[in-house]
Amino acid sequence: MSAKRVRSLMIHGLMAVAILAACAPAATEAPAVATEPPEVATEAPAATEEPAPATEAPVEITDTELNVLCTPQEQWCQGMKQEFEAKYGITVNYVRMSSGEALARVQAEKDNPQFDIWWGGPIDSFVAAKGEGLLEPYDSPNYANLIDPVKMKDVDNHWVGVYVGTLGFATNTDWLAANPGVEAPKSWDDLLKPEFKGQVMVAHPSSSGTSYTALATVLQIRGEEAGWEYLKQYAGQMSQYTKSGAAPAKFVGQGEAAVAIVFSHDIVNEIENNKMPLVLTFPEEGTGYEIGGMGLIKGAKHPQAAKLWFDWALTPEAQALGPVYAAYQAPTVNGVELSHPELLEVNLIDYDFIWAGEHKKEFVDKFTNEIAGAENLKE
Ligand code: PLP
Repeated sequence: MSAKRVRSLMIHGLMAVAILAACAPAATEAPAVATEPPEVATEAPAATEEPAPATEAPVEITDTELNVLCTPQEQWCQGMKQEFEAKYGITVNYVRMSSGEALARVQAEKDNPQFDIWWGGPIDSFVAAKGEGLLEPYDSPNYANLIDPVKMKDVDNHWVGVYVGTLGFATNTDWLAANPGVEAPKSWDDLLKPEFKGQVMVAHPSSSGTSYTALATVLQIRGEEAGWEYLKQYAGQMSQYTKSGAAPAKFVGQGEAAVAIVFSHDIVNEIENNKMPLVLTFPEEGTGYEIGGMGLIKGAKHPQAAKLWFDWALTPEAQALGPVYAAYQAPTVNGVELSHPELLEVNLIDYDFIWAGEHKKEFVDKFTNEIAGAENLKE
């Protein structure tokens, strides 16, 4: 097993963070890496560098509405809707759905799509959707803005990355105070400690892209055989599964369990905006990360508006809106200042998105059938 540690580089006073991420999967049966090691480099432009210009609307806009399948948090979906409407005069209707539900919806509507574009959620689901012929390829002029076009874009232009987020653990500090001697988990093994029995909360991988990222992370770190063994024990530590990936941070903040496995930007949101008593830690042996995706739905009824959104979402102007709406994911395009560079300054595994996407159905079915069913998920 080889490992490269992730280190960030702060260049001058600029928010310039370079992620050199790699930690090859532990076991021989772990997947081959399909692309270059994930250099998820997020660099702000040099002081003299101008951000890439925003895409201008075409002369004549004929679509008057756009239906967005929106997987990030509600507040960001709502904010993006309003910003797009103000810029283009196109009415945006969106439905917020977790990744697994969104994929199921796109599959179910294959012959009569109700959505024009799917924005957000880990790209594993977009890789799976591409494999089923559900996405329309598109060669956006704004791919030129991407920090790492190899890692952040489908080779056939079926999906593209619109943000980056790392998985972390959120532990309730009141619970820690009430349990002297217990420390917040700093490794995947720590989650299995007896003191966390029945105290860990995560979403179910069938509905949540966050949870599927955690599952695929464990399988990549440990290899499939040891990884599934780990996941059985991990399931034995759970208090309850939720439907949405971000929800466990909220519930743990409210004291319903001690530890949540959630994307770190969602933990920051709970701490900074909702004043939840949480401490954020990362597994030292490596954590997984997401590239949040975007893709055009094949057979969309408003393809012009969908392409306008697609191009716009790849501008620094649109990606800089995240923190305005409490979304602290890192951008995928150049020219955006990072709101929380420390979330990338962690040991990241060389998460293989293609492998994770291609095995999504198989792994989710295995988890659901052999480890923990998806009935009665907490909202
Ligand atoms: N909400 C936020 C803030 C996210 O970062 C992500 C990940 O892309 C999601 C939602 C995805 O939701 P879920 O895990 O419910 O599929």
